[in-house]
Order: sequence, then C-alpha cells, then structure tokens
Amino acid sequence: MDPSMQKEYLNSLEQILQEVENYLESSTDAAAAVEPDKGLGRLSRMEAMQDQQLVMEMRRRKKRQLADVKSAISRLEMGNYGTCIFCGKEISPERLAVTPEVQTCMRCS
Ligand SMILES: [Zn+2]
Repeated sequence: MDPSMQKEYLNSLEQILQEVENYLESSTDAAAAVEPDKGLGRLSRMEAMQDQQLVMEMRRRKKRQLADVKSAISRLEMGNYGTCIFCGKEISPERLAVTPEVQTCMRCS
C-alpha cells in the first residue's frame, strides 16, 4: 500500500479512536444503573431504563469498534492492513474509505 494512503488511513483511524473513547467516557453515567430512589414516576422510570438499555447497547457496539480500530492500527504498523482476515484478499479502497477499521472483505463480512 502507498505510504501516503497508509498515513491517511492512520489519521482517520486515530480520529475514530478518539471519538469512540470520548463517547465511552461521556456515556459512563448514562449507562449506570437507574437508581430506584430517584424520585421518578413509574412511567419515567421505565423511560429511563429504556434509555439506559439503548446507551448500554451503543456502548457495547462502540467497544467492539474500539477493538477493531486498535487492531487496524496495529495491522497498519505490521504492514498487513487492508487485507481480509479471512480470505487474505485485498479489501476494496471504497470499503476502507467508509469504515477504515473494517477487517473483512465484502464477501466475508
Ligand atoms: Zn475475505
């Protein structure tokens, strides 16, 4: 892969890494258990718990993404970035442009 492309991918990966880490940090409170004595009515308690579920699901996804981004960065450093971890074929630049942390080609995803 072209070194200038590598640098570009590294930049976007580091940007995503930063964003995901920020999100995980800022959502810690929202994911914490809804306290029973918060003085919420029955309905708003349910809403609060639904919100909490959403945040927890989002955090799960973001944590997975964080792991993918980190592994993509190390793959860049190792020089095998941009190849599918299953079939070893090159991942299309279009695919990498949309999700630089992707580790599989279109067929294996
Ligand atoms: Zn593949």
